[in-house]
Amino acid sequence: MPLHDFARRSSRSAARAAAADAPLEGSVSARPSDEDSVTAWMSAGNCRNYPPAVFFPSDGVGVDRARKICGDCPVAEQCLEYALDQRIEHGVWGGASERERRRILKRRRVAAES
Ligand code: SF4
Repeated sequence: MPLHDFARRSSRSAARAAAADAPLEGSVSARPSDEDSVTAWMSAGNCRNYPPAVFFPSDGVGVDRARKICGDCPVAEQCLEYALDQRIEHGVWGGASERERRRILKRRRVAAES
């Protein structure tokens, strides 16, 4: 995300998918994304102006801070869907914490099974 700092992500598939666009050291603006890339939206994220650590908080206060930044992000929807699709386990993506993303995925699974 920092977008997020790919080195912190636990999803190997996500890292591979984004490898071509991966920021050098946690900064989206470190390298412009390819327009056709699945991660092109990252260059428009509000988080590009913040240190990656902001989006990997260790407590609820930190999560709230990250959520606030995500709150008016123009690519929040893409960000959240990307994190859900790639099963990214850590950090705040699209304004959703790890726990919130797990809940979203569970809701979607339940809905798909019914
Ligand atoms: S929603 Fe949050 S984490 Fe995602 S791109 Fe926007 S500011 Fe960054």
